[in-house]
Amino acid sequence: MSDLFSVADVSAARGPLRKMDIAPGDAQTPVQYTLRAGEQRIGLNAHLGASLRLVHTGAIHCVHCGRATRKSFAQGYCYPCFKSLAQCDTCIVKPETCHYHAGTCREPTWGEQHCFQPHVVYLANSSGLKVGITRKTQLPTRWLDQGAIQALPILEVDNRLQSGLVETLFKQVVGDRTNWRAMLKGDVAPLDLPAERDRLLAALDQELAALKRRIGEQAIGTLAATPVDLHYPVLEFPGKVVSHNFDKSPEVSGRLMGLKGQYLIFDTGVINLRKFGGYEVEVAIE
Ligand SMILES: [Zn+2]
Repeated sequence: MSDLFSVADVSAARGPLRKMDIAPGDAQTPVQYTLRAGEQRIGLNAHLGASLRLVHTGAIHCVHCGRATRKSFAQGYCYPCFKSLAQCDTCIVKPETCHYHAGTCREPTWGEQHCFQPHVVYLANSSGLKVGITRKTQLPTRWLDQGAIQALPILEVDNRLQSGLVETLFKQVVGDRTNWRAMLKGDVAPLDLPAERDRLLAALDQELAALKRRIGEQAIGTLAATPVDLHYPVLEFPGKVVSHNFDKSPEVSGRLMGLKGQYLIFDTGVINLRKFGGYEVEVAIE
């Protein structure tokens, strides 16, 4: 926490955007946001209510290799990286299609370090109930990036492929998407996630048993976790959600009304900073 507060008085920066660092708060403290532009960092919670301006200079630098690119692919990669990195392969979005075992992983070493690690299947409430999967070490970051107000880990598996197989079962009975407009309007009703977990596990009892017979009885572990509540720093949610887009207008400015997921909420509209990874911006706070 201390390093977040020490950067809070910085009010200008220039560099390629990275996704914001989001640190969990607690019952008294909301989630803490740090905007990242190149090597520079600005703690944003301290600037709620202030005028914030971001101006895209026109340059885009790949978030992986740093080279200049005219267009960004998959939220910040240059085309060669997009076509060659394992982290940009379609199996990352659809883990059940992992093809490591076929010997066709784009980067087997990366796959071993990131995909062949414990993964968690969770329930979250971002714009209603959803199921999701992530590498265990990515919690709670994944939930914060999605703007979830509640989350509950329910199952643990040994690797990403298995998490995809489990998630595929859950997707028969629950969604896996966030309605970002609903998430940003802030009128998301709280859910009883342990009750939802019990309901879904009961509904999928036979399918999960069949999957365990296929991939191993020990492969899917049930977690006895307690739900996590996440509180975002928002002065006022937008009545109507209007999106800013650096590709259409290089200057995005207004009064900073809130932070949720990877979005800045201005009184003039919202912007998903993750979508513009690698876009060089000048940031100024007045
Ligand atoms: Zn690149």
